[in-house]
Amino acid sequence: MKITFPHLGNTFIGVKVLMEDLGNEVVLPPKCSKRTLEIGTKHSPETICLPLKINIGNYIESIEKGADTIIITGSCGPCRFGFYSIIEREILKDLGYDVEMIVFDPPDGEPMKLIRRIMKAANTKNPYKIIRSIVRGGKVLQLADELTDISNRIRARAVNSYQVDTIMDKFEKRVREVYGVKETIKLLKNTRKELESLEIDNKKQPLKIAIVGEIYTIIEPFANLYIEKKLGHMGVEVNKSLTTSQWIKHHLIPGPFGSKEEKEKWKAAKPYLSTLVGGHGRETVGSSIIYAENNYDGIIQILPLTCMPEIVAESILPTIQRDYDIPIMTLIVDEMTGEAGYLTRLEAFVDLLQKRREDNYERILSRS
Ligand code: SF4
Repeated sequence: MKITFPHLGNTFIGVKVLMEDLGNEVVLPPKCSKRTLEIGTKHSPETICLPLKINIGNYIESIEKGADTIIITGSCGPCRFGFYSIIEREILKDLGYDVEMIVFDPPDGEPMKLIRRIMKAANTKNPYKIIRSIVRGGKVLQLADELTDISNRIRARAVNSYQVDTIMDKFEKRVREVYGVKETIKLLKNTRKELESLEIDNKKQPLKIAIVGEIYTIIEPFANLYIEKKLGHMGVEVNKSLTTSQWIKHHLIPGPFGSKEEKEKWKAAKPYLSTLVGGHGRETVGSSIIYAENNYDGIIQILPLTCMPEIVAESILPTIQRDYDIPIMTLIVDEMTGEAGYLTRLEAFVDLLQKRREDNYERILSRS
């Protein structure tokens, strides 16, 4: 069994470690690229949302490298993600690829079904071994997400922000080469040390921008055209409302602990949106309010073209912008998105936020 899975930010690091810890062979999809998107777009329905197109590209590129089994999570919410595995399986079958797809659908009253699938993907029936490897993979993923966070904070403050990219690019290459939990954790810790040793300009007071929106486009840098890097080089500190490790905490840790943060977002969103609209539409509204209350300078909502839950959230965000006096910009991405226009919009938004901050300072000074 040669296992592969679609890319989603740092997820590949945790899943690779998890599978290696179980003694399974992993075929990592090549880093998402123009080729990945071209392959996916060519073989997917034209109007389907961007994540499915990139997934298809990932699968085909992994199959070319020898993968024969795909693992993917399922969903039962009111958005297209619930149909992803069905559509993807049909596309691959039509193209003549003989691969097995193991889907971790929510149990829906049949927990044994899900447990059997997990055992099949894990290639063992030993629950202790599976749980131990899941915990290890989760820990590695958490460290990888923290590393990305640290890189965002340092990029906004470093004397030379491009040194952060050099370190992170080297990490991304090395993390594909190392094997198992120990080596991966060692690499993560060493990379963190390297980042923390960079020279910081203490006079910089970075603008703070929050990224909210559809989970895939927030987390997968290729899908959001590397927005964290672009903003970081403009001297902006970026905070994402979702990471894969947070998603795991919300959905896999039982009881009120795991979903505490998510419930706070629902509570904040309630006056504007009180029901589930699929995807993370409700969380986008709630997160935006929480960021505004925490004095962020601006918010960027990012979503794939035709994403239903985020279109609902988008229609509410102008009211939040007015009620909380915080600039919010929406960016819609698909395979036709041009980098130059995207960058211009980011630069214009950052200029606007900078001007607002300066005007606020002047107002405070004139009052004192
Ligand atoms: S959340 Fe939006 S982009 Fe993601 S699967 Fe659902 S409809 Fe598609």
